[in-house]
Amino acid sequence: MTNEKEECSTKEDSLRMPYKEVKIFSDRIAGISNRTWNPVTGCLYGCTYCFARHYVKKFAEENGVDDSFTPRLIEKELYSVEFKPGETIFVTDLGDLFGYWVPREWIENVLKVIKDNPDTTFILHTKNPSRFREFDYSSLSNIYIGTTIETNRDYSLTKAPEPYLRFKAMCNLPGRKEVSICPIMDFDLDILVSWIEKIEPEVVEVGADNHGNNLPEPTWEKIESLLDTLRDFCPKVVEKKGLASLRERSFAVSDPCYTSKYYLQLDNFSKDYFLSKK
Ligand code: SF4
Repeated sequence: MTNEKEECSTKEDSLRMPYKEVKIFSDRIAGISNRTWNPVTGCLYGCTYCFARHYVKKFAEENGVDDSFTPRLIEKELYSVEFKPGETIFVTDLGDLFGYWVPREWIENVLKVIKDNPDTTFILHTKNPSRFREFDYSSLSNIYIGTTIETNRDYSLTKAPEPYLRFKAMCNLPGRKEVSICPIMDFDLDILVSWIEKIEPEVVEVGADNHGNNLPEPTWEKIESLLDTLRDFCPKVVEKKGLASLRERSFAVSDPCYTSKYYLQLDNFSKDYFLSKK
């Protein structure tokens, strides 16, 4: 663990980064949130399908700043973003706020801002949910804590804790929970459903790879079975935008005419990204 910690930037390093002078990523939408907030960015988990890494690189090229995905605290983002009552904010979608490398102080600073905005809801999401237990968030009624469980299988496409460990870490945690099955990969229905049932999330979001990463995707019929089963016990099941694309891709296998529809459904950024990989 010591070596892993040495990989990440220190707070002093982050303060030398030009990013502290920019205010950047607070107007995107992710799933049930109205927008995102990225007081901390960057990630060392290296998921092969990472959308955020590409997004940060693109932003850096356009703004002449460091394009690495090195974890950073962005002080301007932390302290100068204003939140409106009733908004739902996804915290750090361009990184992992609870990655093993994130200094405790950074997370505590984020929790303080959340405490100061009790009428706004914040989604704290990570692929390392075991770190939730390090913090006392019991006084925060305006948060969801959540994780990604894109499948019950371990496809070794990430250095993050494998899905089974994320599931175990989420069990018996207090508070409102959410789970993101995104980007969905082929799964075992009974096992995946039993995991979600045990986590007891209020919200489950289901989405798909939108960027041509050639993931081991399930059939559309299998996804429909999953959605139907989840709706039996979960208060809110959200189909993310990318899921429609997977459905189209699924049909495109048997009917090539669907391909053009698929391209038309991608938003501009996704389309640029997808085409750049051709
Ligand atoms: S955990 Fe998230 S931010 Fe980190 S590499 Fe994976 S997809 Fe990217």
